[in-house]
Amino acid sequence: MKVYKFGGASVRSAAGIRNIVKIVSAEQGNLFIVISAMGKTTNALEVVLEHFMKAERDKALAKLEEIKQYHYGIMDELRCDRQCYAATEPLFDEITTYITTGIGNDYDRCYDRLVSYGELLSTTIISAYLNSQGQPNTWLDMRRLIQTDSNFREATVHMEESQDNLRKTVDFTRSRIYIGQGFIGANHKGIPTTLGREGSDYTAAVVGNLLHAKSVTIWKDVPGILNADPRIFPDTVLIPELTYLDAVELAYSGAQIIHPKTIKPLQNKEIPLYVRPFGQPGEAGSVIQATTAHPIEVPVLIVRKNQTLVTLRPRDFSFVLEESLSKIFQIVSKHRLKVSLIQSSAISISVSLENSRYLPGALDELGNDFKVSYNTGLELLTIRGINPDIERKTTEGRQILLSQRTRRVGRFLMKEQRND
Ligand code: ASP
Ligand code: MG
Repeated sequence: MKVYKFGGASVRSAAGIRNIVKIVSAEQGNLFIVISAMGKTTNALEVVLEHFMKAERDKALAKLEEIKQYHYGIMDELRCDRQCYAATEPLFDEITTYITTGIGNDYDRCYDRLVSYGELLSTTIISAYLNSQGQPNTWLDMRRLIQTDSNFREATVHMEESQDNLRKTVDFTRSRIYIGQGFIGANHKGIPTTLGREGSDYTAAVVGNLLHAKSVTIWKDVPGILNADPRIFPDTVLIPELTYLDAVELAYSGAQIIHPKTIKPLQNKEIPLYVRPFGQPGEAGSVIQATTAHPIEVPVLIVRKNQTLVTLRPRDFSFVLEESLSKIFQIVSKHRLKVSLIQSSAISISVSLENSRYLPGALDELGNDFKVSYNTGLELLTIRGINPDIERKTTEGRQILLSQRTRRVGRFLMKEQRND
């Protein structure tokens, strides 16, 4: 069997969903399809949540209505049958009941409970549509199958339990195609969890691992893995083959092409991961696997936005680097922040952190032991396979706050570039 994953951009319109039918029809073998929420639905549900948390029920319901209209618009365009509308209605009813009667106390828990509906909706619609188009399939509620820890909004999958669940449920002799939600699961008590933004790739990899897939394919609105983000840099080229290690490094540097947690489950079983263009299903795209015939020859550019450079000076003068580092990392990980870069000097430690709603709390706590100063509005450029020419082209005229380099890799923390 193979795993196919379709992301939010691929399922954002009726045309995209028709294209899925085409791609799925072209595959004769057994398929497990993992799907994200349609278009920007996850962001929209985050807005519903914000209102819900502030007990602004009317605003939450108004935003939900927009989401409903968007989905119904797509269903109308697809000329979905009655069954499809009938299958989505209970989901909207559940959300409405939750918004009007629930109490928003624990943000992360409420987030997972509410935002997981994006994927439940998209898979319900697409499953019904595929059925109506001569592609019979079985819809699965992944909250019952993917068991995770209780780290709400950033949950990690418990592989053994999930494997038991999946093996009991998925039987390709009964159904050639299964459809499940990416991004969502539940803890051992059945309380919904999510795997982190863009987590559907991770779901696809987990399913691939647990069902011993021949391959996992992520269908995306790009030609494959490029050496840079074409929205930022001109003249990008396709990288046809990457090793798992290359992919991990790219994901760690902030390449948005695949979720960082995606690689490990695949590497463990040496399952190749294809990244293929949704719009040109005939093209090969890129493949990530254990070994490749050619190393990557072009420089690879990765930009990680929304960075904050935090400089910490211990309050007492008995500065011990190891102790300070371990304290800093404890606090940073407790507040769920991601460190993108570290640099230490005789009297201070600088870390670049992804800005998020958790940052103020972390800075507060760091302030107990350190004098804290920070700069926001930064981006981190990583260049793998650096050469003077590419360095000049990408950093010329930019305000660089911190740079680091090894033989092959250069990293530059710079003021974010404004396009306006
Ligand atoms: N729908 C989720 C998100 O937008 C998960 C995903 O798309 O992978 O982050
Ligand atoms: Mg997405």
